[in-house]
Amino acid sequence: MARPRTTLTVQRTEWLSPHLIRVHLGGPGFAAFRPSEFTDSYVKFIFPRDGIEVLRTYTVRSVDPIAGEIAADFVYHGAEGIAGPWAAAARPGETIDCYGPGGAYSPRSDADWHLLAGDEAALPAIAAALEGMDRDATGRAFIEVAGPDDELPLDKPDGIELTWLHRGDREPGEMLAEAVRNAPWSDGQVQVFIHGEAEAVMRDLRRYIRRDRDVPAEWANSISGYWRRGRTEEGFREWKAELKAQETEPATEPATAG
Ligand SMILES: Cc1cc2nc3c(=O)[nH]c(=O)nc-3n(C[C@H](O)[C@H](O)[C@H](O)COP(=O)(O)OP(=O)(O)OC[C@H]3O[C@@H](n4cnc5c(N)ncnc54)[C@H](O)[C@@H]3O)c2cc1C
Repeated sequence: MARPRTTLTVQRTEWLSPHLIRVHLGGPGFAAFRPSEFTDSYVKFIFPRDGIEVLRTYTVRSVDPIAGEIAADFVYHGAEGIAGPWAAAARPGETIDCYGPGGAYSPRSDADWHLLAGDEAALPAIAAALEGMDRDATGRAFIEVAGPDDELPLDKPDGIELTWLHRGDREPGEMLAEAVRNAPWSDGQVQVFIHGEAEAVMRDLRRYIRRDRDVPAEWANSISGYWRRGRTEEGFREWKAELKAQETEPATEPATAG
């Protein structure tokens, strides 16, 4: 990820739903912010803690060059963590630094259909992708949220069938994984975008899409965890490195009877 550093000023905050807070950031630092062309554009917010920089990754939900602002939507997942509680307490006038933006995915016009799936953390990126699609795009989107009050109005092409999943007491990602696996599979080239709780996405859905459905990497390169249950973002990065090491370990030869 490019590492330009920008200092942004909180303009205002709004609760979009019981678990999502939109923070509008602008101020004099906005002039140095270089928006990315990708719909999954993201920044790393910098939180100074005990003399070190703690980074937290957030999608740039929108950029308003006229107002000189970006918006980022923060999941409020309780009092735990750094970024969620920061967003809940943020007040106009305070500043925060970020690195970026980076990004890698945009909906392709040459896809025959689109499959998007994610939870609250991926909702900003899915919303931006749906807004950025050709109006005649078709496909399916699945978004898992805590309950009905967490649904948001989304601007999407008519041909994208959107299903909201209400998690209730179930584990994060479970319903999403089931919904994607049970979804009808259309003909033609699909482009896939799936993000959310890492265990569900990386151990289950990535394998399903790439191996069982045989979607080539170039059409399915945006399938990854955005967070990991029981781990902070630092712990999640370690988990990803461990998973990658396991996946690249050479397969051991089965023992043969003498
Ligand atoms: C490319 C990318 C884009 C992202 N975009 C967004 C975005 O737009 N909005 C957004 O809210 N998140 C987004 N995320 C996820 C976000 O970076 C993580 O959720 C991050 O861990 C939140 O930091 P924190 O300080 O609030 O909690 P941490 O200190 O990292 O974690 C504290 C505890 O909270 C739990 N936790 C963390 N995130 C969640 C969650 N979403 N739901 C439930 N429990 C959680 C952890 O498992 C841990 O137990 C994105 C991640 C990536 C990689």
